[in-house]
Amino acid sequence: MLSRSWTSVLPIYVWVIDHPAGTILVDTGPKPTAEWRYPTYHFYYPLAYRTRVGATEGIVTGIDEIGMTVDDIDMIFLTHIHPDHAEGIDLIPNVPIYIDENAFNYAGSLRGRFWGEHPSLRPDPERAEPVSLTGDPVGTFDRSYELVDGVSIIPTPGHTAHHRSVAVEGDGPTVCIAADACMQLTQLDTGSVDGVSTRLAAGRDTLDRIARWRREEEVIVLPSHDSRGYDKLMQARS
Ligand SMILES: [Zn+2]
Repeated sequence: MLSRSWTSVLPIYVWVIDHPAGTILVDTGPKPTAEWRYPTYHFYYPLAYRTRVGATEGIVTGIDEIGMTVDDIDMIFLTHIHPDHAEGIDLIPNVPIYIDENAFNYAGSLRGRFWGEHPSLRPDPERAEPVSLTGDPVGTFDRSYELVDGVSIIPTPGHTAHHRSVAVEGDGPTVCIAADACMQLTQLDTGSVDGVSTRLAAGRDTLDRIARWRREEEVIVLPSHDSRGYDKLMQARS
């Protein structure tokens, strides 16, 4: 936040899981608009966060490009409540939004606000489907929540206190939709936690678990802001 230099422009990925039980959208991305309303109470956003999503970008046009529409989405899972991941929920109405119950509650707390959570981006209670990770271990993670068969939510705190990722297991390699558990794939080799993690020790543990999982079996890791994950997924599919 004290540096005046910026990262290069980073992509914002969201993910669609085509599942027999329904089409799942993991994160919605931000709203494509020139007018960004960041919380004025927090110094982080004006100092360290800039988003540029054009009017013809964002979830509605992005999903159109893969031959679907937002009406095809049956459920949404939010990895965490940051604007570049959750702001698009307004563009996909009438769909249940699954979210970790601790993440939901924490975002509304004073402590959560201090750490940059966005209480106004929390889904309406009528749409929110809070989940609790009391299920079986998945990979190197000792608990999970099975959203649908073969698709599990796993705990990956660090970037935020209750950040969650998604494991997709089936034919072929396991896919770990890491979201912001790891900003860049190189962090899995170096173990270095990025600068926007709010929980350092938890972030290190999360990176270590993903790296170990990747050594134990073939796992394709998909960060939200590193296109190399997407490239690896496309290679595996071809
Ligand atoms: Zn984030």
